[in-house]
Amino acid sequence: TSSLSRVPRAPPDRVLGLSEHFKKVKNGNKIDLTVGIYKDGWGKVTTFPSVAKAQKLIESHLELNKNLSYLPITGSKEFQDNVMKFLFKESCPQFGPFYLAHDRISFVQTLSGTGALAVAAKFLALFISRDIWIPDPSWANHKNIFQNNGFENIYRYSYYKDGQIDIDGWIEQLKTFAYNNQQENNKNPPCIILHACCHNPTGLDPTKEQWEKIIDTIYELKMVPIVDMAYQGLESGNLLKDAYLLRLCLNVNKYPNWSNGIFLCQSFAKNMGLYGERVGSLSVITPATANNGKFNPLQQKNSLQQNIDSQLKKIVRGMYSSPPGYGSRVVNVVLSDFKLKQQWFKDVDFMVQRLHHVRQEMFDRLGWPDLVNFAQQHGMFYYTRFSPKQVEILRNNYFVYLTGDGRLSLSGVNDSNVDYLCESLEAVSK
Ligand code: PMP
Repeated sequence: TSSLSRVPRAPPDRVLGLSEHFKKVKNGNKIDLTVGIYKDGWGKVTTFPSVAKAQKLIESHLELNKNLSYLPITGSKEFQDNVMKFLFKESCPQFGPFYLAHDRISFVQTLSGTGALAVAAKFLALFISRDIWIPDPSWANHKNIFQNNGFENIYRYSYYKDGQIDIDGWIEQLKTFAYNNQQENNKNPPCIILHACCHNPTGLDPTKEQWEKIIDTIYELKMVPIVDMAYQGLESGNLLKDAYLLRLCLNVNKYPNWSNGIFLCQSFAKNMGLYGERVGSLSVITPATANNGKFNPLQQKNSLQQNIDSQLKKIVRGMYSSPPGYGSRVVNVVLSDFKLKQQWFKDVDFMVQRLHHVRQEMFDRLGWPDLVNFAQQHGMFYYTRFSPKQVEILRNNYFVYLTGDGRLSLSGVNDSNVDYLCESLEAVSK
């Protein structure tokens, strides 16, 4: 018999598998609220006007359009400059040129947010720690990515309890773990995933004060924060405002020296609508002391930085060699053209206003007690707190598709289905 017969069947992806199934259903009322892809008020996936204009510019620009050669392993220099400026200068203006200094940040253009997490995971597992804390609940792929890339221990911190964020439970767990670790005197501090905004799936994020408490703890325990910023802009409609967690982590007055660095995994999938183009980035921000705390005006990389760069390159080379070109060219055009960038900010705000509107329309129609936190939730999803059984009834009897954890993507809701949807939700909630 073949050794291949030892391969067990993996369960289908919880989100993408459902979409496939949905396509086969033949019922006029069916609604797909599974995947987090933005659709307009007519149920269409559209291209942002800013992105469409950038595409036109690329098309008419012979050199850009025709160049099908490889990008460098960690992406083009232009992409790095544009994205770093956007993330570390514009989104975090208080830091000025210091954080823009290339000698503090190792940067890689990645295959969207997932690719950033995968490269980060591989790097961390090789050199820093194989333990990670992931919120419970979280995006299901977090566990998968870290397991697949060398992590040995996946811990879940209590994020959500009785419809609210469980800050005290969360902090208590981290402290107890650190205490036990210290007693055993063995391990490196673990990594921890933090959703930068629009927590997936709950839609609830800590307040500014709560974040401070959490980050104080993480800093004190010398844990390695992995800031997963897949929804920048989708909370408030303002791209820069939504980078508040990044700004907090990078506040040198509060946290002068993250001894094990900060890992930022960022995606343009949702906030530029570039889902299939797979464009995002990983930034590894090293401790200030790595360069004796000095700003280096020549932007010469210090040796620690060069070592990290070289290892990230080696990882990417062995994983997929180099990133795809087209999506990063679109990002470059949008970020480097003042008018297009302004348009992009408007596009994001427009999308978020529609999601707010949908939330309000549903809120007006629904009447169950759990709705208290509906208004507090933000982002692309509504977390219904339905049990797997209720989700199944909704799917089988009403042809309304949510993910198994009761998460509903608001972007699939519009004027033509909101009444039917709310009636179905009401019926199942009883
Ligand atoms: N993190 C979270 C929490 C997400 O919800 C997503 C998108 N579903 C991602 C990362 C990454 O998505 P992508 O690879 O499409 O950028």
